[in-house]
Amino acid sequence: MTQFETILESKVDLSDGEDRDRMSHIVVPASAVAEAIVMGTPCTALCGKTWVPTRDPKKYPLCLTCKEIAESKGWRIPTS
Ligand SMILES: [Zn+2]
Repeated sequence: MTQFETILESKVDLSDGEDRDRMSHIVVPASAVAEAIVMGTPCTALCGKTWVPTRDPKKYPLCLTCKEIAESKGWRIPTS
C-alpha cells in the first residue's frame, strides 16, 4: 500500500492571514511532509502544488485535483 499524507496548503506568497483559500493536498510519501515541516523545505502535492507545509490540514477541504489523482491510482482517501 502506498503511504501518503494530506497536508494543508500554506500561503507562502501572501501574509493577510486569511484562510479562505486554504486546502488540504495529498503528498507522497507521507514522510516528506514531516521532513518539510521540520526542515522548512517545500514539498510537492499530487496536483503539482509546491509549498512549505506548516499546519495540520484536518479542518480544510481536500484539493479535488489531488483527490482525483489519488482515486485514479486506487488509493484510499482519508476521511475526517
Ligand atoms: Zn492538490
